Amino acid sequence: MLFRELADTYERLEATSSRLEMTDILAEAFRRFEPSEIRMAVYLTQGQLYPDFNPLKLGMADKMILKAIAFASGAGESFVQELMLKEGDPGIVAQKAFQNKKQTTLFSEPLTLRRTYETLEAIARSEGGGSQDLKIKLMSKLLSNASSSEAKFLSRVITGRMRLGVSSMTVLDALAVAFASKEDRDAVERAFNVSSDLGLVAEELALHGLEGVKGIHVKVNRPLRAMLAERMSSPEEILEKMGGTCAFEYKYDGVRLQAHICNGEVRLFSRKLDELTSQFPDVVAGLKRTMRAESAIVEGECVPVDTNTGEFLPFQEVSHRRGRKYGVEEAIEDYPVKLCLFDCILKNGEDLTDRPFLQRREALMSIVEPDDSVTLSEIRVLSSAEEAQAFFQEAIKDGCEGLMAKSIADGSVYRAGNRGFLWIKYKKEYRSEMNDTVDLVVVGAFAGRGKRKGFYGALLMATYDPDADRFETVSKLGSGFDDANLAALLEMLAPDRVPEKHHLVDSRMEADFWFQPRLVLEVRGAEITLSPIHTCSFGSVRPDSGLAIRFPRFTGRFRDDKEGREATTSQELLAMYQAQLKRVE
Ligand code: ATP
Repeated sequence: MLFRELADTYERLEATSSRLEMTDILAEAFRRFEPSEIRMAVYLTQGQLYPDFNPLKLGMADKMILKAIAFASGAGESFVQELMLKEGDPGIVAQKAFQNKKQTTLFSEPLTLRRTYETLEAIARSEGGGSQDLKIKLMSKLLSNASSSEAKFLSRVITGRMRLGVSSMTVLDALAVAFASKEDRDAVERAFNVSSDLGLVAEELALHGLEGVKGIHVKVNRPLRAMLAERMSSPEEILEKMGGTCAFEYKYDGVRLQAHICNGEVRLFSRKLDELTSQFPDVVAGLKRTMRAESAIVEGECVPVDTNTGEFLPFQEVSHRRGRKYGVEEAIEDYPVKLCLFDCILKNGEDLTDRPFLQRREALMSIVEPDDSVTLSEIRVLSSAEEAQAFFQEAIKDGCEGLMAKSIADGSVYRAGNRGFLWIKYKKEYRSEMNDTVDLVVVGAFAGRGKRKGFYGALLMATYDPDADRFETVSKLGSGFDDANLAALLEMLAPDRVPEKHHLVDSRMEADFWFQPRLVLEVRGAEITLSPIHTCSFGSVRPDSGLAIRFPRFTGRFRDDKEGREATTSQELLAMYQAQLKRVE
């Protein structure tokens, strides 16, 4: 199959934002692909070469891809660099550079999907001395045979910027439509949830149809997608939802770990399926000591502890252990942890995902001999709201976040990758009123609509983190501006415009315009909350959340007496959040 067919599909996907249309486009393409090549096509569509849990990632530096584009298109490095400054997207740069390409090389041959994929693999794998040159060489060779559309997508995928807007759920929709039927969508999704591998699901479907995906099961050393919980705010509500009785467990505040044990070897994966084995050698050793199964997949929360008192410490302590390549040994001593196991997904080769919760708990008890570093979660099966509330207080007193309620009904299976009411979290409330104003930096903006057409509709605001020298987003600010302010903002921000997100800015949001972080505005908000999309003090309170200011309003005061780095710091906002936290007792 030719890579051009895939690029054509991407062009069509890019032209729509409708999930239904994307599904149709993909389904049609999947039917045309060779079954032996569909895996590659699916990974590339996700901007990857392998499933998420494979640590080998694409990610060529911009300056390297620009060199390859300049070389292969003959456009010249300065032309390409200028174009990059203007466009901010190596894909568009490649597209334009190749549109202008005067003549194709004499020996140009059409790119096949397999050759393209294998070259990208070789680029991702090359490391060490001389690898930069090799990467540029391999990429130039690919590009020299590419059309402008192919060059666009190759340049995006290699720099980790694919962003076609196709979620894994849309790919699953399309796979079901292409190879089974809409009614079989659940079976297809289940296969993905237990394998975390879209390429594998696609290949099985293409080769063996529905029977193929039904044969995909949980497997040791292949992480499955985590089961997630819904939230409720009282034990009464929870018990009613659970049919009168359920298991309550301590809700520990740490890092979720999925441990895969096989013949004495242990591997650890995070909730996002990243491999964490090398960062927690003490947990690996603890599991080797305490596990009594030949093979198993167990899940638990890894919590920081004070070894002197045996008490749990705040979550932040364990975050020091994440992402380390060096100093792991020191970190083990400085930030000791304990693993509290709460589920058993596979025992001695047997997939337990379809077993009810208490059977899985029994399986867990049968294969773990707990010690100081690996224990089982505190658990009580209760039917009374008063008892549940008393257990909640105990959990808080012991340094936990609250309780996890778990269904014990016949249908209380492990639903990988799903959020539902089989598990319900009951936590201390995380809200905090704001009494003070803050000074925030403008790092981005969104185009205005309606009455604000031609002006900025809202600004993306950030705090400053002096430790990391980064600006971290905290809210979208759209209120409190009069017409004069709006006009002034256009002028004041014009010199700060940059073509893409400034390198000092941490943002999970895509803004329409980006700025050098300079202009400071005074803002009043209603409260500070947790948010997965803002990056202010990210991970300090909860692993997957930053702080956000809700209902922010510009006070009318431009803080031109302050520079960007003199804005309210992320640490200050965290302190405000913690000081004003309303604890629901
Ligand atoms: P979510 O995981 O629900 O998307 P989140 O990351 O903000 O959201 P919480 O809402 O606080 O986390 O609650 C779920 C998390 O609680 C689990 O992912 C797990 O890491 C943790 N946890 C702690 N104790 C338990 C327990 N006993 N059983 C299950 N999960 C637990």
